Amino acid sequence: MIQKLSIHKIKNLNRISPSQYHSAISCPYKLVLANSFGYQPLLPLNANAHFGSIIHKMIELISKGVINDEQTFSESWIDLISKKEEELKEKGLASITPLKYFISDFALKKNQIKNILQKRQEKINRSSKTSSSKFYPEKRLENSEKSITGIADLIIENDSGTTILDFKTGKIYSDAIDESGITEKVVKREYEVQLKLYAHLYFLMNGKYPKALFIVTLSNDFIEVEFENSDCEKIYSEALNFLATTNSFITKDDMKSIANPSIENCKYCSFRPACSYYSSWLTTNFEAVNDLFGTIEKVNQFSNDTLGFELQMQGKKVLINGLSTEKKKDYKSLIGKKVILYNLKKTKQSLNATATNFTVIYE
Ligand code: SF4
Repeated sequence: MIQKLSIHKIKNLNRISPSQYHSAISCPYKLVLANSFGYQPLLPLNANAHFGSIIHKMIELISKGVINDEQTFSESWIDLISKKEEELKEKGLASITPLKYFISDFALKKNQIKNILQKRQEKINRSSKTSSSKFYPEKRLENSEKSITGIADLIIENDSGTTILDFKTGKIYSDAIDESGITEKVVKREYEVQLKLYAHLYFLMNGKYPKALFIVTLSNDFIEVEFENSDCEKIYSEALNFLATTNSFITKDDMKSIANPSIENCKYCSFRPACSYYSSWLTTNFEAVNDLFGTIEKVNQFSNDTLGFELQMQGKKVLINGLSTEKKKDYKSLIGKKVILYNLKKTKQSLNATATNFTVIYE
């Protein structure tokens, strides 16, 4: 896929969401670019990320009671999968469809969501007899200025208080080392920050804090995030401060101070093509990531019906294989041009690389 960067204007951030805040701390410029491009990624997301959005939608529909039996489950599943596959085809990602062949444990994950439906139905049957719980799926929580705003997956209110729940489809824990040097599993800091921000926003809207915060996994495990009210308030103040500081850098047109290229920050940043700080960083760090840059010198055709580039990079010849012949004319038009190739598959032994389903070339 060949792309050109569209014109974009750096704009002040009007708001930040609890789910964005933690990852934006390490490189605020990522959020600034996302905002300037209307949150449309400039590089394709992998199959798991697309599938994750389907899972999240299914859980949302279950929470809202739109999916309430086997039939509505199956209709929604088929509908969401086929719409997503159509979208992927339109985006030039037909090669990762049908999704079921590109997602590990596809059937298991489908069953796990079905279990969530069953458990919810059991819970509704039980609670309709015993309690007056109210369920608020996809509940917006925000401060009065709407500068910090997000949507909690589910809020349950009853006589004993409020519980805020957020559904997560990926890894929940990261490793941490305690005082005695033992490695222990802790809930990822980004999820903890997100839920604590929800708790404080809930307080601002209702004058009281929730009694509990939970992360719910695909296996229907409920993981409690313990909190102190003062901690939630502190994180909220820091988020407000982050927003004001980032906007002051935007006003001064000082992006350099808020861009922080590193392997960890940039590896999965889908705004790399628009980030000049990343492009400069790449010239000395290309061995650590899956992107390469240089001038296309030649397009070669191979007997297995694929194409390859000869790329001139810092005085070295680099070979990129595995390109589709369908785009031969477009690729030839790149000869003599400087490009950056994103999402390649590299080998440890040499600089040479292979194109993947997700490779994108930006002129
Ligand atoms: S590419 Fe790296 S430095 Fe640039 S915005 Fe993304 S995370 Fe920040």
